[in-house]
Amino acid sequence: MSKNLAIRGGPKLRTVPFPRYAVIGEEERLAADRVIASGHLSRYIGAWCKAFYGGAEVLSFEAEWSTFFGVKHSLAVNSCTSGLNAAVGALGLGPGDEVIVSPYTMSASAVAPLHYGAIPVFADIDSNSFCLSPRSIEQKITSNTKAIIVVHLFGQPAAMSEIMEVARRHNLKVIEDCAQAPGATVDGRYVGTIGDIGVFSFNYHKHIHTGEGGMVVTSDDEYAARVSLIRNHAESAVEGMGRPDLVNMIGQNYRMGEIEAAIGREQLKKLPSLIDERIQNVKKLEEGLSGLPGISFQKIDPATRHVYYVHPLIYDESKTGIPRRAIVDAIKAELPETELREGEGALIAAGYVRPLYLLPAFQKRIAFGAAGAPFTTARRSLEHAYRPGTCPTAEWAHQNSLITHELMKPGMAESDIADVVEAFKKVWSNLHELHS
Ligand SMILES: *Cc1c(COP(=O)(O)O)cnc(C)c1O
Repeated sequence: MSKNLAIRGGPKLRTVPFPRYAVIGEEERLAADRVIASGHLSRYIGAWCKAFYGGAEVLSFEAEWSTFFGVKHSLAVNSCTSGLNAAVGALGLGPGDEVIVSPYTMSASAVAPLHYGAIPVFADIDSNSFCLSPRSIEQKITSNTKAIIVVHLFGQPAAMSEIMEVARRHNLKVIEDCAQAPGATVDGRYVGTIGDIGVFSFNYHKHIHTGEGGMVVTSDDEYAARVSLIRNHAESAVEGMGRPDLVNMIGQNYRMGEIEAAIGREQLKKLPSLIDERIQNVKKLEEGLSGLPGISFQKIDPATRHVYYVHPLIYDESKTGIPRRAIVDAIKAELPETELREGEGALIAAGYVRPLYLLPAFQKRIAFGAAGAPFTTARRSLEHAYRPGTCPTAEWAHQNSLITHELMKPGMAESDIADVVEAFKKVWSNLHELHS
């Protein structure tokens, strides 16, 4: 008997590719041309002088970012990873200090402490937001804990008021990783401006991008000074700048070029409309998918704005009798490849990343040198810190309940969204073909 589902040899619901995620246009081309015509592709000098803070495009991008986000200081860097590292250094963290991190995020947000010899300690996530759970954070605090790195995962703000309350009570610093959440808000405040330091990404995959790039924001003058030093060869600049404090004043080259900054200025102008489009597309998708047995959506606190880097779906296998992997593969088979990541098919997946403590670096506790630094500098045993089961909600989300997709990207027309909905409905109408 012939089958209906593409994964069983039936016809695909759609073969015509979805629109490209085309956020780089004429404005960015003109901006890049302007820099090339000037001949000044970067103006930084790695020593204390007027050019220590970079060229005109970098300075303008930073000023415009500060105005948009209502924050005192913005410091452009060459990636969010660089920015997270600089943030850890700027807070003065060092060997033996513990930093509470999320297991369910891009790896850079959890390994940043290691670069300063500090120890990442994983707290569990909340089953609805997939961001750090304030209660789990509190359970992981020891006398060595100095900071928390919060990630606003998938564009959804973490529970910032509770987390800031825990931080204040235990005298902890808070870094916000906003790579997936530029423009997300809590009670009208932008994420990134609530903790001590916020960091954004302009990597190619993010809401707005410059190819590679990032931005660090803070309202604290001292942290801003320290981030700008770490960004640009601190050790060579502290003396000229008249700064006696040498803690973590060994710098990197985390500088952004002028072309990226010029492009970033144009991208920032597009951010509000790109966010609106994501929110509208998610609304249409949720209307279309509501009522499918086994699929539910995140509950969004009305005091927050989710900006949907990813649109997570929560799957309950007991409602369909079909394992998550088989459902996702069947939906994927109905839809065209996405140009963004060739070879991966349609952008829908079972889970997100494996909980990070399961990475070899944590399992073997080897980071710098063969002897186990900085894990060996911990002031307590880490024997059980990274064992499987450490964060059960993250493991459950990853292995059982979470479906992530990016089929709500700007550029998707009403008819494209309708096809995504039809692909789900086709699979749900033919679940019997997946039994076996
Ligand atoms: C993308 C991402 C990063 C890293 O950003 P880069 O700019 O590529 O270094 C860090 N954290 C999260 C949550 C991310 O999604």
